[in-house]
Amino acid sequence: TSFGFKEVREEEKSKLVGNVFSSVASSYDLMNDIMSVGLHRLWKDRLVSKLHPFPGMKHLDVAGGTGDVAFRILEDINSVSRRATQDGISDAEEETRLYVCDINPNMLNVGRKRAAERGLGEDRCLVWVEGDAEALSFDDRSMDGYTIAFGIRNVTHIEKALKEAYRVLKRGGRFLCLELSHVEIPVFKQFYDSYSFSVIPAIGELVAGDRDSYQYLVESIRRFPKQEAFARMIGDAGFQKVEYENLVGGVVAIHSGLKL
Ligand code: SAM
Repeated sequence: TSFGFKEVREEEKSKLVGNVFSSVASSYDLMNDIMSVGLHRLWKDRLVSKLHPFPGMKHLDVAGGTGDVAFRILEDINSVSRRATQDGISDAEEETRLYVCDINPNMLNVGRKRAAERGLGEDRCLVWVEGDAEALSFDDRSMDGYTIAFGIRNVTHIEKALKEAYRVLKRGGRFLCLELSHVEIPVFKQFYDSYSFSVIPAIGELVAGDRDSYQYLVESIRRFPKQEAFARMIGDAGFQKVEYENLVGGVVAIHSGLKL
């Protein structure tokens, strides 16, 4: 079987993505840990270290789901500025805004709950916004950074999402995308293919009681453009200095670009 992009019609894709994340929201974080054997934590750390967050920054995390990336950015900013000022919250820190944008309110609700559990419930830096990556509600040139982790694969028109990322970034702003990608190393590829095709849907059934959603996730990984092709799409959206880094032989890749 091939999982050609055209096989899933566009309306179907949007509906499928909606269903997937409504049904998995509550088990989402646990499933991430199980399926990636905890590695998604390191991958997100790597993403945030490439961003170089700073106090006072305006940042947009799209498909931000349950807040994983935003929490890391906030922790990073707080540790830097606390070290600099030695006394509580600095003025710049007060101005920091991290917008977590997701199309699915269930995911955002889980994120809000997690923020409250971390004592960040009242933190003005974190702003939760329901919205579509393809039509962002933010002003042109309003953001210092844009991240999207395990999100762009689910977007119906990737080009539109990239254009929107470019639009909302300030000059000098950085685009970073963490996504499941393509393994090219022969023996590892065979192992990875059988892991994802048979093991992931089985774990989905066992843990989340939902085989189909996880089957869909595996198929969406296959359909996603390879590293080089995706890098070209980022360049076509206007970004400069486009590069990517493979992690675990391409199981995931971090693509980056600058708006100059
Ligand atoms: N970034 C989070 C993380 O890494 O843990 C969540 C990733 S989760 C696999 C994908 C998220 O993308 C879901 O929360 C889903 O609701 C969201 N999503 C899907 N399509 C979207 C769109 N068009 N615009 C914004 N968010 C979208």
